Amino acid sequence: MKNRVILWFRRDLRLADNPALRAALDGDFDSIVPVFIHAPDELGDWAEGGAQRVWLHDSLRALAEDLETLGSRLIIRQGPTLDTLNTLIEESGAGAVYWNRLYDPPIIERDKQVKKALNEREDVDVDSFQAHVLFEPWQIETQQGQPYKVFTPFWKRIKGEPIRAPLARPDQLPAVWSCIGSLDVPDLGLLPEIRWDEKIRDCWTPGESGAQQRLETFLEDAADNYDDERDYPAIAGTSYLSPHLHWGEISPQQIMHRTEEWLDEYEGPAPREHIESFQSEIGWRDFAHHVLYHFPNTPDEPLDTRFKSFPWSDDTEALNAWQAGRTGIPMVDAGMRELWATGYMHNRVRMTVASFLTKNLRIAWQHGERWFWDTLVDADLANNTLGWQWAAGSGADAAPFFRIFNPARQGERFDAKGSYVRRWVPELSDMPNRHIHKPWDAPAEVLKKASIELGKDYPKPIVDLKASRREALEAFDQIKNES
Ligand SMILES: Cc1cc2nc3c(=O)[nH]c(=O)nc-3n(C[C@H](O)[C@H](O)[C@H](O)COP(=O)(O)OP(=O)(O)OC[C@H]3O[C@@H](n4cnc5c(N)ncnc54)[C@H](O)[C@@H]3O)c2cc1C
Repeated sequence: MKNRVILWFRRDLRLADNPALRAALDGDFDSIVPVFIHAPDELGDWAEGGAQRVWLHDSLRALAEDLETLGSRLIIRQGPTLDTLNTLIEESGAGAVYWNRLYDPPIIERDKQVKKALNEREDVDVDSFQAHVLFEPWQIETQQGQPYKVFTPFWKRIKGEPIRAPLARPDQLPAVWSCIGSLDVPDLGLLPEIRWDEKIRDCWTPGESGAQQRLETFLEDAADNYDDERDYPAIAGTSYLSPHLHWGEISPQQIMHRTEEWLDEYEGPAPREHIESFQSEIGWRDFAHHVLYHFPNTPDEPLDTRFKSFPWSDDTEALNAWQAGRTGIPMVDAGMRELWATGYMHNRVRMTVASFLTKNLRIAWQHGERWFWDTLVDADLANNTLGWQWAAGSGADAAPFFRIFNPARQGERFDAKGSYVRRWVPELSDMPNRHIHKPWDAPAEVLKKASIELGKDYPKPIVDLKASRREALEAFDQIKNES
């Protein structure tokens, strides 16, 4: 067996707690060839969206720098993956290929083919490792041997299970033979032609050290109030770790261990309930991967098959208004504009805009899912699918269809002072708190004082919330008794 190993980086763009890297270091290899292969054509309909591509560009740069600091070098190639790996095996004389597993259906299919083809070669050892989730989706099952479809029992089942300790970051790595050529990150063409990506960079620091920094900032500033503040979009009350988790710049194991360690170090009564609430969100992420693995058609089709015959609307004008943040419903518009400006939207607002799209506008959840896919920096097939099917009422552990969020009331409850709406919908800045979430109900003199003419300075609502709610329930009546 030759003494070199190819370390195939995918969505595990980190050096600490990286099981494939650790196995490469612990194996009898004198050289490690780290490679990233960009092969969007192999991801079917779910190749990276625009915001994800920007993140990937910056994250690859960070990984390449980190590898160089340790004496190694990131080799960047374009796909097809199998051909590229075969070429690299010839060029480097590697006798092994290692990677960490992912669970998106097109990736599973591709990886199976790669594994099979490499195994057919007699000169290469192939191995893959668990790095992306706390537990493998096939490890967890109900007492009846079935996959879980409800979060609470799923979380109960895994909550007390031991989680492996994070693996150490290496201090140095073997050099990569200089003959092995590489593209530069910009050669992958991940950045948009019209450079809107600068705005995203103002908000985020992609890469492993950015991820670690984010976790520490969260622990310092927000963790001990997480459960009380996580629902208020004007407050930085959550971790903002989702894009870092998506690209594997930090692992769920590192988060679980660091939060426990932080609790032990906490001066005064430890805020355990807040940390447990945060850890359960990491559990939701594992649940989303579990559901996606067992129900691989759910990115496209409703898990609850009654929804296949739901009478969705094909109102493109309404869809465009929703995407542009011009529905005339302030909480919805604020969320959609935050998304456009930053590549992120607060979870409470994601639920609100998704309910509005699927229930008040009765537009199929797949349209919202696709828009999020293109615009979110944290777009993630498992979490996005679960979130959209949850909101539409058709998924695992979904909100019942008849639970229709009133977006104005969501605003009054979770943005009582209107700070979130004022930040993202500045034309409403001078509206008093009392009317900011329902400008259509405000007396004429209030609107005039706030310099708002509805339909001119800010849209009139594109839909009547009460009437559309009633129509949504009537539409649901048509399918609810189907089996
Ligand atoms: C319609 C809709 C679409 C969504 N699309 C995505 C998506 O594409 N990518 C994504 O990462 N999350 C998605 N979510 C879940 C959630 O909104 C985000 O994970 C969260 O807002 C990210 O912010 P945070 O990191 O500050 O979260 P925190 O509250 O700090 O949570 C920590 C981590 O837990 C995980 N998490 C939190 N909530 C959920 C959840 N409901 N389901 C699964 N995992 C969760 C995330 O990895 C998150 O980073 C979606 C939710 C909805 C309702």
